[in-house]
Amino acid sequence: MIIIMASAKQKDVDHVVERIEELGYKAHVIVGVERTVIAAIGDERGKHRLTALESLPHVERVVPILKPYKLAGREVKSESSVIECKSARIGGKHFCVMAGPCAVESREQIMESAAAVKEAGANILRGGAFKPRTSPYSFQGLEAEGLKYLREAGDAYDLPVVTEIMSEHQLPLLEEYSDMLQVGARNMQNFSLLRAVGKSTKPVLLKRGMMSTISEFLMSAEYVLSEGNPNVILCERGIRTFETETRNTLDIQAVPVVKRHSHLPIVIDPSHAAGQWDLVIPMARAAVAAGADGVIVEVHPNPEVAVSDGQQSLKPEVFKQMMNELKPLLAVMNRVAG
Ligand code: PEP
Ligand code: MN
Repeated sequence: MIIIMASAKQKDVDHVVERIEELGYKAHVIVGVERTVIAAIGDERGKHRLTALESLPHVERVVPILKPYKLAGREVKSESSVIECKSARIGGKHFCVMAGPCAVESREQIMESAAAVKEAGANILRGGAFKPRTSPYSFQGLEAEGLKYLREAGDAYDLPVVTEIMSEHQLPLLEEYSDMLQVGARNMQNFSLLRAVGKSTKPVLLKRGMMSTISEFLMSAEYVLSEGNPNVILCERGIRTFETETRNTLDIQAVPVVKRHSHLPIVIDPSHAAGQWDLVIPMARAAVAAGADGVIVEVHPNPEVAVSDGQQSLKPEVFKQMMNELKPLLAVMNRVAG
């Protein structure tokens, strides 16, 4: 249920929150421009008891949330969320470019990558230190050492950093070194991991599972939000279809569909969707045109020698070209750099 309050003071809101909690529900306060909305989340069966709250001061209406995702949906928050990550903004007017190698391979490699993406205008540096690989014999990432290099590169070039968390046990380490926590496609329904990052204060970049529906995707975001972390950025990174020409199929429709249902920002990962570097620029252009809130792109100083995903990584000069090509499109779409 949602409790909609108009011209309410903090004490009025606190009072409603108290009553919601007394009834055994969790209260999530969403402060909007004109109204404050309090979502009461819990057992649906007792929800009629919440309707009595309509008699409290400044409570305008108590209405059920119809969608299965409560906090992620537009029913509780009609305006789009803008998420802040240090100097970067994602959502609303802000189009955020996250770029960097698939994996942190060495100090030099991440430093060079950071210099290149910063120069071209990226807003956030990416780089995996814990890599989810299909084969246990493939490079698994530099782990803690990689995190240190990533942090150093982010600090040297004044870029916030995003890196993947594969298990809740990694949370203390990742919180120390990263500005944003990436939950990968393979972990989109790792519910204990989602609950763990939901307790963090760091924004979460949640990638869509390669075989997940948009509704399941939003339910996973709901896990994070329900634990109290409101800063979730969704990422469409291609889904598995019968098509074999490309690594995955970019579901570009996911952008307007997610925006119809949710206030959360959504970015596109054209690198993992296409799996081929020469398809990245056209798909990044499509992302802007579809109304995405950003892109996350793999860039490597020397893709031929990359230990992972070299075939889909852009050389620095191609990334620069991508940024130049996006500029006029962003202006048409009325977007500003994140
Ligand atoms: C990645 O970003 O390097 C990655 C592994 O992505 P995904 O989880 O989308 O496959
Ligand atoms: Mn990759």
